Amino acid sequence: MAGDDGHRNADNSRDHAKEAEIQAKLRDGSIKIYELEKQLPPVDAVRVRREFIEQETGTTLENIGIFSIDVDRAATRNCENMIGTVQVPVGVAGPLTIDGEYAKGSFWLPLATTEGALVASVNRGAGAITKAGGAQVRVLHDGMTRAPVFAAENIVHAKEIADWAKVHTNDLAAIAKTTTTHGTMTGLMPFIAGTSVFVRLEFDTKDAMGMNMVTIASAKIADEIVKATGARLIALSGNMCSDKKPAAINGILGRGRSVVAGIALSHDLIEKVFKTDAQTMIEVNYRKNLVGSARAGAMGFNAHAANIVAALFIACGQDAAHAIDGSTCMTTIDATESGVYVAVTLPSLPVGTVGGGTGVDTQNECLKILGVAGGGTPPGTNAKKLAEIIGAGVLAGELSLIGALAAQHLARAHQELGRGVKR
Ligand code: NAP
Repeated sequence: MAGDDGHRNADNSRDHAKEAEIQAKLRDGSIKIYELEKQLPPVDAVRVRREFIEQETGTTLENIGIFSIDVDRAATRNCENMIGTVQVPVGVAGPLTIDGEYAKGSFWLPLATTEGALVASVNRGAGAITKAGGAQVRVLHDGMTRAPVFAAENIVHAKEIADWAKVHTNDLAAIAKTTTTHGTMTGLMPFIAGTSVFVRLEFDTKDAMGMNMVTIASAKIADEIVKATGARLIALSGNMCSDKKPAAINGILGRGRSVVAGIALSHDLIEKVFKTDAQTMIEVNYRKNLVGSARAGAMGFNAHAANIVAALFIACGQDAAHAIDGSTCMTTIDATESGVYVAVTLPSLPVGTVGGGTGVDTQNECLKILGVAGGGTPPGTNAKKLAEIIGAGVLAGELSLIGALAAQHLARAHQELGRGVKR
């Protein structure tokens, strides 16, 4: 069976003498903990490593040791020095009606979180969106980036390197193509700071989130730039990519999939579902999400987009650190004749349905709930569908929290007015 560690613990086929010997060697340092997979099958290596850590730390890790995911895969592809798993509760929000280009119909969103009230909040927003006819969603841009940094001899040389890269964009794209079947280099943008040259390379990565894919391609491209220009390659990632750091460049140019989702809400629906009114929702969004975020110097202008992005990313095997990119969402509310039009713009959602953590059994099941596990037909459509679903999920979360804040404000105002408090 697929790596059922609990069952393996009771397995009589355990070679106790060999394991005792390995434990002794771990203690005296003659075997390193990362070498266990060379001595034992992954499932046994994980257990022996966990038992070693239990002894070292005086703990009993019985829960970390119970899991069903395929250890052979997880310990070799997803996590070094594996000792087990951490279980995160998964709830569902929905049904959420989505009218996207790739995601069409009714969806149940799997949200992995330990934050009580989050799933309920998204559920409420999903209900409102569905009642209002479904979220409109579009993918605006699609491009995973890597930006190697090169050192030039002086600023004239720096400009020459940047110009050479720009002029040879097509040649460099052809070099990238030799490293991947699905990936295609779609853009190149050089930046200079003194004698540092950053070449921001952009790729269509189809259904992969693409970080490994574009890093491998970028290495070959960087070699060519060095060969042709005499530049010194300093680092394959020069932080103008910009990966896992809050960065304005991702918010402006986009990174991964850029998505926008919107919904028109009628006065009647705002009152029935959110117990507030259009004007109050608009003011909460203006003063909190726009003015408050600007005053704070925030990169994101939203209520809690990262909550939904992180919960969906963890459930669906995405790289959780990329929740930081999701937090750059901007939430806008326009007044309309019939009520409001609420939209969320997410310029940077690095998501994929193949590669990375998407193959871990539990995460893969969550992708199946959304109908996006594996490669799409044609390639790229599953990742875009996932991005659209996440966009609609963030819209649900934003609506719910803005609605709750607006209703509280209204309740307080009513209370004050009802008691004759002078305002
Ligand atoms: P990956 O698993 O390394 O690459 C995706 C693989 O899927 C490629 O081998 C690709 O083959 C194949 N593939 C099959 N069907 C595909 C389809 N329909 N669309 C696209 N590709 C398809 O995953 P990745 O997305 O490039 O990288 C994700 C991982 O990178 C995550 O684990 C993340 O944590 C990690 N990461 C890496 C870095 C880094 O600097 N290396 C930084 C941040 C995160 P072909 O390439 O032959 O087409």
